[in-house]
Amino acid sequence: MRSLIVNPHNLNHLPSQITTITPTQPVARCLKVPYKSLDKLAIKTINNHEITIAPVLTMDRTWRRIVAENINSNDPDGIAKMLIPSRQKLLKSGVDLNLLTHHNSRRIRDLAQVTNRYKQKLQKQGYIDQDQLFWEAINYQTQAPTPAQTLLIYGYFQPQLDQVKFINLVAGEGSIWVLPTGTEEIFAKNREAIAYLESKGWQVNYQENDDNFSLGEKLQNCFLGKGELPHKVQCHIYPNLEAEIRGVLSQVKQLIIDGVSASKIVLVTQDEKTYAPLLLDIAWEYQLPLRLFYKIPLRNIRLGYWIALLIEVIENNFPFESTAKLLHHPLARYLTYKQWLEARQKRPNNLAEWEELGLNLSLLKFPQSDTLPNWVDRIKQVLKFFDIRKNSSQWSREIVAFNQLETAWLELSKLDGDRLNRQEFFQDILEIITKLKVPMQPGKGGIEVHTPLSLQGASYPHVFLIGFQEGILPAAIENDPVLDFYESRRLSQFNITLETAIDIAQRNELCFYELLRIPTKSLTFSCAEQHHKKPLLPSPYSTRLGIETTPPPLLNLASIEEARRYYLQQPYQLSNDVIVNDIIKNWQVEQRRESGESPDEYDGVIGIGVDYQNRIFSASQLTALGQCPFKWFATYLLCLKEPSEAEAEITGSLRGRLYHRCLEILLKDIKTQTDLRRLDIQDINQALSQAEAALQAEENVNFDKFIGWEARRLEGLNMLELNLQAEDFLLANAEIISRENYFDAEWYGLKVIARVDRIDRTPTGLLVLDYKTTSSSPLGIKDDSGKAKINIQMPLYQQAIAQNFNEVPEVDVKLYSLNKQRYLKAKLTEPAILEAFAEEVKQRLQQGNYPVAPDQKQQVCQYCEFDSVCRKGNRLSRKTSSK
Ligand code: SF4
Repeated sequence: MRSLIVNPHNLNHLPSQITTITPTQPVARCLKVPYKSLDKLAIKTINNHEITIAPVLTMDRTWRRIVAENINSNDPDGIAKMLIPSRQKLLKSGVDLNLLTHHNSRRIRDLAQVTNRYKQKLQKQGYIDQDQLFWEAINYQTQAPTPAQTLLIYGYFQPQLDQVKFINLVAGEGSIWVLPTGTEEIFAKNREAIAYLESKGWQVNYQENDDNFSLGEKLQNCFLGKGELPHKVQCHIYPNLEAEIRGVLSQVKQLIIDGVSASKIVLVTQDEKTYAPLLLDIAWEYQLPLRLFYKIPLRNIRLGYWIALLIEVIENNFPFESTAKLLHHPLARYLTYKQWLEARQKRPNNLAEWEELGLNLSLLKFPQSDTLPNWVDRIKQVLKFFDIRKNSSQWSREIVAFNQLETAWLELSKLDGDRLNRQEFFQDILEIITKLKVPMQPGKGGIEVHTPLSLQGASYPHVFLIGFQEGILPAAIENDPVLDFYESRRLSQFNITLETAIDIAQRNELCFYELLRIPTKSLTFSCAEQHHKKPLLPSPYSTRLGIETTPPPLLNLASIEEARRYYLQQPYQLSNDVIVNDIIKNWQVEQRRESGESPDEYDGVIGIGVDYQNRIFSASQLTALGQCPFKWFATYLLCLKEPSEAEAEITGSLRGRLYHRCLEILLKDIKTQTDLRRLDIQDINQALSQAEAALQAEENVNFDKFIGWEARRLEGLNMLELNLQAEDFLLANAEIISRENYFDAEWYGLKVIARVDRIDRTPTGLLVLDYKTTSSSPLGIKDDSGKAKINIQMPLYQQAIAQNFNEVPEVDVKLYSLNKQRYLKAKLTEPAILEAFAEEVKQRLQQGNYPVAPDQKQQVCQYCEFDSVCRKGNRLSRKTSSK
């Protein structure tokens, strides 16, 4: 006799000597039996007939091909992906697909047709799809029955029709199936299954119902409205998700400290995707070992990322940024520090240029087409060359992924297809790393995290259910865009049973109902009030249970990091913590930095004077000091510099240096406007080439590597030619007497040096010309209102030249724009302002006072490389207002 236990209660008397079938390992562990599942039984049945489930890649590739061949679309891969859920539904339902190919809806006909062809294609290779498993096993078991076994089926509390029929065929005399039911709606499907089984000779058994209900049973009764909510069940509400995870894990840690074994505690969440990363991070901080079986695609982990990057690099012929990332990645570690510095300077942008750095990347020269086994061999060689296996071994998840890939390569090399072009092969690899999945935190032991479904039938003393929110538990019901609920209802007229929205809602409810059975000592629900600033509501099941949300209990500090944060103002509480004093000091520094208090030694006011009398200042140095003292401090006193890195495009300052050098060469023998007019475009071109060569030799600049350099150079040539014609460039009555020379002078008690682009003698005296590559006057030092408007370069040059040519009656200084081919307007600064500024400079240097203080609009910051050092930010407005 085969029997059904339909009101599972006090199951201690279940027979232990018969083969027990459980859906998951945790359930088998709770029953203390070896893990054997219904799927394994079905696979064994089909294997007896030389059929097996197709590997993931074979299924995927076959499906994509069939869809591409049969459905006319510009995006066959997109369509293939969209049709997968509908295909799964059809195959799971066991419907006769030939029937559907005559359906009056074209959508359904197409779907049935491609699904049928896909099935046939797999069949030809000796495969079936995962979703056909039970129907195929039923077929084979009906055609050629193997002896039925005595089974105890436990944990299959929500069986699908195919599972019910399969169990009926393989379960022999003496078999027992625990299959809960009741009069409520949530048991509707189970009642149908029981009726079917009864018609096949199964006997329905009711357990003796004493009143000694377990905590789980009391909870289930409460959910069905048949009893009170038991004690030891709480629902804690937290301000946000992080607080929720901290709260839950600190309670878990307390249980462990109290001596509860990790195996007696389980964390359950329906939304692993949202909670898993937070759980891992905080468990690491709390030093709690956690096991997360939630599977993530290889593409989202280091190994998959590296492989995707490899493809991007090869496809785009080794561009600088992505190739640098690829070679610098912790899984490859192929660049030495020296090579990296060199790469930053030279900015290689194709394979040949990378190889010029001494790197051997010949294995990455992939041909345009090859056979599949050769492609697979090639990718394996690349992984071996970069020692990816060894470098993965420091992370358990990565090494699990690497091993999965090994199997995938084998499977891929066996797939049909003669020659593949490179794009097709790369597409296959990208599919592999998207389809293959690894557990988020594999390993053994520790506290496990599961979904409600994977725990059905298990029991644990302490259960924490995280994310008891509306939209998570129960999950929102999603409609299939192809085989939607409307179509599913229409198909029921043809005796094709597909799941409806009501079925899904009932399935979710039954799943939650079974979850309630799991705890034997305590169940703690938790939820958050908001996530990413969106308000959240507790799960509607909380109302069904009649449970009130309450704030969590006063929680212990579960990590040293939390203790440090908490005791920041009472350091004596952490007297054993050797780094707490440093933390407190740094915290105080940051607090002051962010406050309205005046800057201190951590903000440029170092209080160490320097002798200004022994320093020689240029106009740029003084301008920097007057714009933002910290900028001068970082540049000229600390001598900080960004690591030298080749730019993709020519920078403004390099462009300026190039034109200055070109004009110096061009005007070497030019004195008057008449001489100037004799120069032609060839002369300019020649001078420009010489200037390029000079900068290449001095600064290692490769102009040809700049994006669009040819066009930019031509633009520059034309611009220089226009200048030679311009009236302001060289006045008719002027004569050039100096080019790119230095002049020492004294300026309001400071020693200065002026590097002067050009000096012309005019009938009234001397004209000092400073070339600018901008179209407007450059930023000056700050005025009283904080605007960077005061030009000190012109008066400084004027005084320096006057001191060096003291016989000349008058010195005029002009800023000349090469872009506009005319003088720029600039206001002469009053001597009193200059004198006051020079005094300020002396005082700053004597006092060592270089605060972060840019101009009001922070315009000077645009061209400053110290923004990451000075921490300018919003805090500066507080400093200013406090002043
Ligand atoms: S980024 Fe601005 S505030 Fe910072 S040092 Fe440079 S100029 Fe000063």
